[in-house]
Amino acid sequence: MPEQPGVICVYARPQNGGVCKGCGARITWAYTYPNRKAHPLDADSVALSTFHAEDDNHELIERHDRATSHFATCVKSKDFSGKSKPRREREPGEEG
Ligand SMILES: [Zn+2]
Repeated sequence: MPEQPGVICVYARPQNGGVCKGCGARITWAYTYPNRKAHPLDADSVALSTFHAEDDNHELIERHDRATSHFATCVKSKDFSGKSKPRREREPGEEG
């Protein structure tokens, strides 16, 4: 399994810069591997390592420290979910 504790895996290519609606910080929108959910990383997050996906496309995947997930660093992270308080990290599925 490519997933490791404390590490978030994202597709390397389709990333878009943006600004957090909550705190105004610069972020990078990446898509998680393998679920392809939009996930904000801190804009200066650097991949720890890379590997190629075990699917037909063999896309390049980056591992980032979960500490650089903007969910971890944003002071407004609990506002990202408009529903009940998250038990785990929530994905902003309706963003975009
Ligand atoms: Zn933020």
